[in-house]
Amino acid sequence: MDHPSPHVLLFPLPIQSPINSMLQLAELFCLAGLQVTFLNTNHNQKLLLQHTNVESRFRQYPRFRFRTISDGLPVENPRSSVQFGELISSLQAVAEPFLREILLSSSDGVTEPPVTCVIPDGLFYYAVDVGNEIGVPVIPFDTISPCCLWVYLCIPKLIQAGEVPFKGNDLDVLFENVAGMQGLLRRRDFPFYRLIDYATDPYCQIALKEVESIPQSNGLILNTFEDLDGPLLSLIRSHCPQTYAIGPLHLHLKTKLAEKRMPISASSNSLWEEDHSSIQWLDAQPIESVIYVSFGSMATLSKEEILEFWHGLVNSGIRFLWVIRSNLLRGEEWNHQFAKELAEGCKERAYIVSWAPQEEVLAHSAIGGFLTHSGWNSTMESIVQGKPMICWAVYVDQRVTSRFVSEVWKIGVDMKDICDRYIIEKMVKDLMVTNRDEFKKSAEKLSNLAKESVGEGGSSRIGEITMEQGARQPPH
Ligand code: UDP
Repeated sequence: MDHPSPHVLLFPLPIQSPINSMLQLAELFCLAGLQVTFLNTNHNQKLLLQHTNVESRFRQYPRFRFRTISDGLPVENPRSSVQFGELISSLQAVAEPFLREILLSSSDGVTEPPVTCVIPDGLFYYAVDVGNEIGVPVIPFDTISPCCLWVYLCIPKLIQAGEVPFKGNDLDVLFENVAGMQGLLRRRDFPFYRLIDYATDPYCQIALKEVESIPQSNGLILNTFEDLDGPLLSLIRSHCPQTYAIGPLHLHLKTKLAEKRMPISASSNSLWEEDHSSIQWLDAQPIESVIYVSFGSMATLSKEEILEFWHGLVNSGIRFLWVIRSNLLRGEEWNHQFAKELAEGCKERAYIVSWAPQEEVLAHSAIGGFLTHSGWNSTMESIVQGKPMICWAVYVDQRVTSRFVSEVWKIGVDMKDICDRYIIEKMVKDLMVTNRDEFKKSAEKLSNLAKESVGEGGSSRIGEITMEQGARQPPH
């Protein structure tokens, strides 16, 4: 019997960082000659087309196409981080029947072959059920940090051992039942660190469903590399032997495009307009004199927290470039006067934009460090550029990742829960001046390992080959 030619359907979580990573993965599959469908929500597709050249970029791949579905929310819903749980469940109501329909249809057989492999975000546990029911392989791509994913995989054991939910208020208690992290992981590093009851925490419930679905899937894709996460990858493989580590994905893609002498510039996947004046401002700053400050696409801060950061940064005397998104302020309408005052008060040594071309910023020679919320994409982008980090984690994987940045990889410091102008000032001086050489040395070492992993014969290249073989498997 003839097998249909491979056709992968990629389905990211409807937020910036997974869309970014999934588009990079989609392009790798295109380069490997596979038929690729990228399933986006109407809302995000509109933003993507508005702010990027993604449409013309992918036109060079005739076997690629976008498809869109509703996310189930009314148009006027702001889709902020507060509504994240609501977004996930409203999308499930639309996506689950859509997936069933598309996997059952054998397509028209003329314009494209049927879908033979689904690559959903790891949180879309239901895609694994649908694939298994219909006999189409599903290989989730989990875009969070592997250190956090490993903690998720340990949650059932933690519940059984009575370590979760927490008893008492001491957040410095260490976990005993997270293999590989004994003596390291404290309650304050736990993804759901104020967890009182896992049964009522909606996000924890989704994570637990993902944990159940992982061994039922046909593989797992992670944006990391063996030299960074080797021991954790071995542990994760005890739950899912076909775990492919193919990162740092953005560098992996760039490396392959360069090898094929294809254009790699201007490859933004941003849902917001990138302000390129940030690069012009950096061009005028001395080498490694600027700290880049960004809290990613979803984290929100109170006005008090924004002011603590502002004072700490100004008092440090170090130059800074700060991304203040128009929806950064928690629970309040964006106040333009407030933003103007912040910018005015630091204009001699700082520059504020509402969204930056982050990969380009981190690659700039004027950047000496990164004050980050420890989102996984930001962390990987910083590692690739060998820039040390100050971590101010907000939620989920950021809490575990920031612990690894400071205690395992030793490429920065972890502020964790503290938001205090004196501590911010001290940490900025520490990273940029006092302990600069030490941090720089370890960050550069890791950056070199990242580059090796995506170079010819590197571990992520081997991971990619096996992943593609997995995605080419015929449906059962
Ligand atoms: N990003 C960007 N410009 C900005 C801020 C962020 O392009 O001004 C990108 C960044 O390069 C990264 C993504 O947005 O790829 C943020 O992902 P991350 O996982 O770090 O954080 P999240 O937004 O999921 O909290």
